[in-house]
Amino acid sequence: MATTDSTHDVDVLIVGGGIAGLSLASELAGKCRVALVEAEQSLAYHTSSRSAQQLIPSYGPAPVQELTRRTLLTLRGAVDDAGRRLAWPSRFMLVGTAADVAAEAHSGMGHLAPHEARALAPVLREGAFEAAALDTDSVRTDALALIGDHESKARSGGVAIHVGSPVHTAQRVGAGWLVGAGAEGFHALNVVNAAGAWADDLAILFGVERLGLQPFRRTAALVSLAEPLDPDMPMIAAADDSWYFRPDEVGALVSPAETEPSRAEDAVPRPGDVERTIELIRGVAELPVTGILRAWTGLRTSPADGLPVLGFDPEAPGFFWLAGQGGYGFQTSAAMAEDAAGQLLAGAEALRVGVRPVSETERALDPHRLSVRR
Ligand SMILES: Cc1cc2nc3c(=O)[nH]c(=O)nc-3n(C[C@H](O)[C@H](O)[C@H](O)COP(=O)(O)OP(=O)(O)OC[C@H]3O[C@@H](n4cnc5c(N)ncnc54)[C@H](O)[C@@H]3O)c2cc1C
Repeated sequence: MATTDSTHDVDVLIVGGGIAGLSLASELAGKCRVALVEAEQSLAYHTSSRSAQQLIPSYGPAPVQELTRRTLLTLRGAVDDAGRRLAWPSRFMLVGTAADVAAEAHSGMGHLAPHEARALAPVLREGAFEAAALDTDSVRTDALALIGDHESKARSGGVAIHVGSPVHTAQRVGAGWLVGAGAEGFHALNVVNAAGAWADDLAILFGVERLGLQPFRRTAALVSLAEPLDPDMPMIAAADDSWYFRPDEVGALVSPAETEPSRAEDAVPRPGDVERTIELIRGVAELPVTGILRAWTGLRTSPADGLPVLGFDPEAPGFFWLAGQGGYGFQTSAAMAEDAAGQLLAGAEALRVGVRPVSETERALDPHRLSVRR
C-alpha cells in the first residue's frame, strides 16, 4: 500500500467509535492531528449503546475503582451543549445471603440490615434475602448524551471522524503506520486500538501479537410495569451475580448479569433469557412486569486478569492499546482517556518508541503484564 495525495497524515489514528475511542478523541481534540475510524455506519453501535449506564465506585478491582473515582470527578455536574445532565446520583445495592454479600461488597459500601434495605426499596420482599450493602456514591449516566458530547467536542477540536470505515489493511512505514479504512487512507504516527470485542482481531491485522482479550455476552432489557418504581430507588443486584434491575424512565431495566464467552459479533439475546430473569427477580422483589419493551445483548471484553489494557504495545512501536474495559467501560472512560492522552502526547520521540507508564494505575493496566506475551 503506497501513500497517495488523498492519504491523511495524522499523529493519532483511533480505531473504534465506542465510549473508549470517543473519550480519547475528545481528550486529544485540539492537541494534535487526530482521526477516528468506526467500522459501523453510526458511532457507539456495539457495546457502548447497550450498557446499564451505571457508574459504581465500589465495583471492580482497585485500579478500576481508582479510574472510576477520577471519571466521576469529571462527570459530576457536567452537562452537554443542550443542557442535559451527563451524570446524576443513583445508589447501588447488593442483596443476597450474608456470605454472598460479605464476599461481594467492596470497601466503600455500607452494610444494611434487611429492614433498612426494604426502607430504601419497598419492592424487596420480606424474608427473601439475609443481607444488603449500599454504595451511596454511585451515579447514572446518559450513555448516548455522553457519546454525543464527546463527538461534539472532538469534531469542534478538529478530529476527523469517519463512520462506515472498517480498517482493512495496515502496514508499518518508517516511524508510523499506513492504514486503509473503508475508502480512506491514513499515515499515522500512532494507532490506538479501541476496537472493543475486536481488539485482538485488529492487532492481528497490524501484525501485532494479540493479548488474549475475551468478549463475554451480557443481556439487558427494558420492561414495562403496572406500577412505576420510585425513581430514587437504588439499582439492586443479586450478590451471587444472577440478576440486577433498576428503575428506568419507561419502567425498569433488568439483566441476567451473565458472563458467557462469545466470539466477537453483533450479539443478540437468546429466547427466554429475559423471561427467566424476571422470574428470578420476582423471587426477591415485587416487580409487576407487564411486557418486555426491548432486549439487547452486548459484549464485555476483558483479558485473563480482568483489568483493562492501556499503553503502548511492548513490541510494536506506535501501536497503543485502549481495550479490555469489560463491564467498566463507562465508569473508567474519562480517566482512561486522560491517561492514554498523557502517554500519547508525551513527545515526538516518546511517541515513536513508546513511553513508560507513570502512575501505579497505569502500571497495572500496561499491556506488558499479560501472560499471553510470554
Ligand atoms: C448489558 C451491559 C451492561 C453494561 N453496563 C455497564 C455499566 O453500567 N457501566 C459501565 O461502566 N459499563 C457497562 N458495560 C460495559 C460497557 O458498555 C463497555 O465496557 C464499553 O461500552 C466498551 O466500550 P468500547 O468503546 O471499548 O467498545 P465498543 O462500544 O464495542 O466500541 C468498539 C468499536 O470498535 C469498532 N471496530 C471494531 N473493529 C474495527 C475495525 N477493524 N475498524 C473500525 N472500527 C472497528 C466497533 O464497530 C465498535 O463500534 C455494560 C455492558 C453490557 C453489555
